[in-house]
Amino acid sequence: MEHFDTPNELKQRLSAVTAARFSKTPEACTDAELCQALLALTQQLAAARPAPAETKNGRKLYYFSAEFLMGKLLSNNLLALGLFEPVRDLLKTMGRSLADLEEYEPEPSLGNGGLGRLAACFLDSIAALGLPGDGVGLNYHYGLFRQKFCENKQCEQPDPWLTPESWLLPTGRRYTVAFGGFDLDAVLYDIAIPGAQQCTAGRLHLFDVADPAPAPAQGIDFDKRDVAHCLTSFLYPDDSTRDGQLLRVYQQYFMVSAGAQLILDELAQRGFAPETLGQHVAIQINDTHPSMVIPELIRLLTARGLPFADAVAQVEAACAYTNHTILAEALETWPLEFIGTVAPQLVPILRQLDALARTRSGDARVAILDADDRVHMAHMDIHFTHSTNGVAALHTEILKTSELKPFYDLYPEKFNNKTNGVTFRRWLQVCDPALAGWITARIGDGWTRDAAELEKLLPFADDDASLQSLLEVKAHNKRRLARLLQSRQGVKIDPDSVFDIQVKRLHEYKRQQMNALWVIWQYHEIKAGRRPARPVTVLFGAKAAPAYTMAKNIIHLILCLQTLCETDPDVRPWLRVVMVENYNVTWAEALIPACDISEQISLASKEASGTSNMKFMANGAVTLGTMDGANVEIAQLVGPDNIYTFGASSDTVIDLYARGGYCALDHYHRPGVEYLVDFLLSPALLAIGDAATLHALWQDMKYKDWFMALLDVEDYIAAKTRALAGYEDRAAWAKKMLTNIARAGYFSADRTIAQYNAEIWHL
Ligand SMILES: *Cc1c(COP(=O)(O)O)cnc(C)c1O
Repeated sequence: MEHFDTPNELKQRLSAVTAARFSKTPEACTDAELCQALLALTQQLAAARPAPAETKNGRKLYYFSAEFLMGKLLSNNLLALGLFEPVRDLLKTMGRSLADLEEYEPEPSLGNGGLGRLAACFLDSIAALGLPGDGVGLNYHYGLFRQKFCENKQCEQPDPWLTPESWLLPTGRRYTVAFGGFDLDAVLYDIAIPGAQQCTAGRLHLFDVADPAPAPAQGIDFDKRDVAHCLTSFLYPDDSTRDGQLLRVYQQYFMVSAGAQLILDELAQRGFAPETLGQHVAIQINDTHPSMVIPELIRLLTARGLPFADAVAQVEAACAYTNHTILAEALETWPLEFIGTVAPQLVPILRQLDALARTRSGDARVAILDADDRVHMAHMDIHFTHSTNGVAALHTEILKTSELKPFYDLYPEKFNNKTNGVTFRRWLQVCDPALAGWITARIGDGWTRDAAELEKLLPFADDDASLQSLLEVKAHNKRRLARLLQSRQGVKIDPDSVFDIQVKRLHEYKRQQMNALWVIWQYHEIKAGRRPARPVTVLFGAKAAPAYTMAKNIIHLILCLQTLCETDPDVRPWLRVVMVENYNVTWAEALIPACDISEQISLASKEASGTSNMKFMANGAVTLGTMDGANVEIAQLVGPDNIYTFGASSDTVIDLYARGGYCALDHYHRPGVEYLVDFLLSPALLAIGDAATLHALWQDMKYKDWFMALLDVEDYIAAKTRALAGYEDRAAWAKKMLTNIARAGYFSADRTIAQYNAEIWHL
């Protein structure tokens, strides 16, 4: 940790930065300037730290991911540097607050959802455990997009998060990537990742083009053919056209080709020969976007003289693959012809790998190239890595027994589970200092180094004073969120209402539409004179992929329901719907500590793990959820009294899909369901929303409902009614909160990373 022997020394360091940057004393700086100065100081300190010492066996990890959803860096880095409290106290003496300053830090826009946030939590834990490992990704200039609401619909704008004083460190390193017909330089920037409890730091390596395009003048549309300038403009550019799809392949190959060259360079610098790659390098492939690192490394090794079979063996020993989804539409396949355009040098290797895979199994379902010459990226990953892991116990079981069964039959030894985790430094210590203080006052601060120690809280479940003060911590966080919503969005909410929160990417399988049906149900109850025991505030936050019409339609429905409740004087005192604009890590850090009921209502079998469920749990929210993803493990850890579960089981759902046995219309015709769905076409809603959109959504829910919201909606309403009733017994509720916090230690990313290391990486 960084040691400044006196607060004075810290002040001197800060003064040096403000003098150099602004010719001012810290006191004379604006909040924005102080924020910049502190960022610069933490960056200097983090960048000055050495990489963790090489381990005895000389292995180093590279974590490849298309996304790293980092969140703001200032507080997190101060914490890792051991400066969080000293800086907070110093600012206090100056009449400033860290929270106010942080409003001026733009949030890096390098990720999208859970998968990217997982990668960011993992980098934090890898650094905190002192493991030699770096992230590898791309430096997107305008992020995914910035979400605005216009006329109750989502509009997308560029999210230009990079500023001149951005914390990217130029490295002076660049690699040339050979595309079909032209070469493009990959310029390397780094973000330093200081490890908490360590004196070392890891790196997030971000590759960029040398001459990036300016932001589009309007919206997020741009010339997808201008690869040389636009390759790093956006994460997941629209792929509804051939040029858009090709651009994604260009992005992927750019990332892995530059990354593979960097790995071989560092291998040589460390004094090892290329034929020892498998011994000295561990590569984690986070979902299939980086999968082309496999053929690219094989290509580079054979170019250095290795026989093909040896190159394959080395790559297989180095690489491991994490599967994040069983949704068929999310499993990437690319026409081989695309790869022939983008990286023709990979085509013969892919054909050889396909032939090799076919010698290992006669089962056509496990081939890499299918009859249409499409490349199945996940298939290549499973054949040519030594480990395939799922991200929660249930998810891994489903991979083994249904989705990837032919592969499991072929390679049972490759399959393993690594239940996801989150870093409690960001997701408890930084985002919820009141709760962190409450915990430390009771069990000391050992839990900040080993989250398993949170279990020491369990005896306090019978301590009335502790339970009372726990409720006060929650009330404090709810007031904090209410102030933030007022200042950021001009919305005033009642901190004494129940905060029921569903924040995550908008997807039909996550079933925000089912929550919307609950709102419609509650609206009718209130209209009929049956009011809830206390007002309920339903908070949503979600971005929809720009080309995903159904998801955008669901956002429209939620925003219409928001207007409906706001403008109805009978309803507004009892039911509010609030959708935060541009949900991101910064919003999550304010919403999660303030949550009473955590909505985790995906269709069973469809959410691989979820990680917001873990963040909410650790912050004392009670889960209302299906037995899906890591919810299953949460339920086991807290027991049935401390979670509200409902809905069809994953077995039932998998069986329904297999038989084609689900008929939305049958469920629609149930008396408790029909009026909820038909409300989409009610005069009240049509007066607010867009008729064509609401009609399309109504039609889909009634006749299709691919993710079975109507199957579970009545059970969901019943479970939410139980949860809201449970909330009224404040002492019993506080016990549930405490039990959730005490049992959350298992979901520390430090635990997850220790398992990856012990069972996959062997660093
Ligand atoms: C944790 C997190 C997610 C993942 O949420 P899930 O509910 O697990 O899908 C997505 N976005 C942000 C900003 C997060 O912090």
